[in-house]
Amino acid sequence: MTFSCRNYDFNLNNCQKLKSDCIPGRPGCVLEGKVRLSEELEKRLAELAANRKKKGG
Ligand code: SF4
Repeated sequence: MTFSCRNYDFNLNNCQKLKSDCIPGRPGCVLEGKVRLSEELEKRLAELAANRKKKGG
């Protein structure tokens, strides 16, 4: 990553704000709507959403 976000926890390697993976631009992220998601990031978000559905949450 070439950015630093105050919500990013380098020890846990995740987002403190969302208590989840750091995916810049994801819903709830401070960068939401400010950055354009790359195809790769959009894919990761879609995967996360699909996994959440599977878990029933
Ligand atoms: S998901 Fe967004 S708010 Fe969270 S650490 Fe990453 S850039 Fe920051």
